[in-house]
Amino acid sequence: MPPDPDPKPVRQFLWQQPVKMLPGVAARRAAQLQKLGIETWFDLLCWFPREYENWADLVPLSELADGQEQTFQAGVQRKPNLSRKGRLSMLRTVLGDGHHTVSAIWFNQPWLSDKLEVGMVCRFHGLVKRNGRTFQVQNPAFEAVDNPDEPASSFGYRPIYRLTAGMTQGVMRQLIQSLLNRTADNLPEPLPAWLRRRYQLCAADFAYSRIHQPADEHDIALCRRRIGFEELFLLRTGLWLLRRHRRQEASALALSPDAAGLSALDAFLERLPFALTAAQRRSWQEIMADLGRPHPMNRLLQGDVGSGKTVVAALAMLACSLGGAQSALMAPTSILARQHHQTLCRILEGSAPAPALLTGATRAAEKREILSGLADGSIRMVVGTHALLEDVVVFQRLALTITDEQHRFGVGQRRRLGQLQEDEGKLQPHVLVMSATPIPRSLALVLYGDMDVSLIDELPPGRSPVATYTAAGRDRPRVEQLMRRTVAEGRQVYVVCPMIEEQEALDLESVTAVYNRLAQQVFPEFKVGLLHGALRQAVKDEVMDQFMANHLQILVSTTVIEVGVDNPNATLMVIENAERFGLAQLHQLRGRIGRGAHRSLCVLISDSSDDLGRKRLKAICHAADGFAVAEQDLQLRGPGDFFGTRQHGLPPLRMANLYRDTALMHDVQEGLQAMIQEDPDLQNPEHSRLRALIVSRYPEVFRNIGL
Ligand code: ADP
Ligand code: MG
Repeated sequence: MPPDPDPKPVRQFLWQQPVKMLPGVAARRAAQLQKLGIETWFDLLCWFPREYENWADLVPLSELADGQEQTFQAGVQRKPNLSRKGRLSMLRTVLGDGHHTVSAIWFNQPWLSDKLEVGMVCRFHGLVKRNGRTFQVQNPAFEAVDNPDEPASSFGYRPIYRLTAGMTQGVMRQLIQSLLNRTADNLPEPLPAWLRRRYQLCAADFAYSRIHQPADEHDIALCRRRIGFEELFLLRTGLWLLRRHRRQEASALALSPDAAGLSALDAFLERLPFALTAAQRRSWQEIMADLGRPHPMNRLLQGDVGSGKTVVAALAMLACSLGGAQSALMAPTSILARQHHQTLCRILEGSAPAPALLTGATRAAEKREILSGLADGSIRMVVGTHALLEDVVVFQRLALTITDEQHRFGVGQRRRLGQLQEDEGKLQPHVLVMSATPIPRSLALVLYGDMDVSLIDELPPGRSPVATYTAAGRDRPRVEQLMRRTVAEGRQVYVVCPMIEEQEALDLESVTAVYNRLAQQVFPEFKVGLLHGALRQAVKDEVMDQFMANHLQILVSTTVIEVGVDNPNATLMVIENAERFGLAQLHQLRGRIGRGAHRSLCVLISDSSDDLGRKRLKAICHAADGFAVAEQDLQLRGPGDFFGTRQHGLPPLRMANLYRDTALMHDVQEGLQAMIQEDPDLQNPEHSRLRALIVSRYPEVFRNIGL
């Protein structure tokens, strides 16, 4: 392990300098770099090689292999021969080590003929091909071995960077080299020495320079681990600080129900047609305790589809209303907002005045009324969509915001919700986020790293899991029989068609075609409805109402029904082209059925012959709960950024990978716990330096927390 240098002062300005402050970077070059997202010195330093060329391991000429990129050392044995044909040229020579020879050929690089002299010994790197009984190497890069001007490190692992038009590897290497020359002695070390020792992490200046010029595979692994660790550790520590700041310093309205309030909450629970599950009770208690503190709650309520999050949300809203404050529930689609509104109106009847509903479709007159009710405090609860985020929406005393299916909102929107009330005496609303999306733990630690978590880990009693089967197109008659039988028993059916944004027109055609076929040819005796995103809001609402009331027996729909829709009488779901959905999405979809006492069935129709696709569908037939599905999805899909950090308003990860690096995340988490146990205020100089670096590295995320 390289020596451990003294901690250096934070030279933030160095990192934030624009790349055009580097010599050799003119406007054109800066524009190219910008295309790659490289704007500051730090961006450039973190432009990590996508792979390396191995120039260190020499292959003896006798062991060259056909079709591989290899490095070998040889002498130039013949005067290079240049032939031209129009604008094309070909340069040939013969290389050898005294026993074996290799022919070398370069296309369209005539200037090389001056650089190659007979007797010169070089390292060559290129694609080697068998050519009869000998080998040929095409367009090899080469470097003279005895050239005293070449630094020794030029043999080793050569970085290969992702480039943009107009750039070459040589240019990028030079830029990064010149940056390293300038900053090498000024790279701050964010990680405390004890942490580096404990997790065997090399020093920052070693890592950030060697990653661009490693000597061997070991170097690469060492640097990658160190940089990945740093990235995750800084982010996790920042999120932890954010959470701590909210819990300890930011102010919120403390809502502890008095005796009358408590009995009103009890009365509400009495009126429910069911008893809360133990998990619902526990979550509600956690939320109530948070609401009672004078600091904003920031809590994730996670529970599989159908676990009963809505009633917990209702309790929280009721508690607010009883405390004389306002609450808002925001849903990602207006279908879901309307449905939440109906549910809340139903279960809160007798406990509180009916909540208002504000969506994009709310008529102007009604909207004016709602806005004034929210502004003067006469409306205590409101349910809505993004419409709630508009500037015109002003609350008199907003104490709680709840978002449903939060993964569909970015952190930006989430933050906006948290700030609806900013000017008013600096009180921030409590924030509750509900999600059914099961995500791997390392991802959750980053996406929800600034939140406390309540988990509803059981389903209400009497639910039987949704039996899931796959079928092919030729099985359609049998599937249709099943649909007929289901409707004959008084139940209802969803038919879901994929909707993919890039081909919306095509998908629209397919959902309409499925609808026409079912409505006109297959089930003329039933009422069939059609629902997709391109319909006007009023039409969508009408269709949904009809389906909820069982005036439509079959609903043909795109994924607009994906989230939250709750019709316990629907017991069969048929999913067309199932291979085009993600597994997590299929799980969300089938969560729409199995919501009542009746046995429910989900049929995945697919004619895909793709092996992986079939495996994925089989997997979801066997995985009952969301976490099992997420695991399967990960394993089959492999690492991929299907919950990109960027879309959540978090900084991009340049080295760490939240899917692959679970072991690293484990270490990071353990290290963080150890640090905050010893020094919760990060007062130790090494830790306060870390704190300062986090803010300077991720200003957009952590600027506002007064670190
Ligand atoms: P989700 O967590 O997916 O949002 P919902 O809140 O929509 O789930 O609840 C799903 C269904 O379960 C609803 O019909 C709801 O009335 C019912 N439900 C919720 N809690 C219970 C419970 N403790 N016992 C029985 N049914 C419940
Ligand atoms: Mg829900």
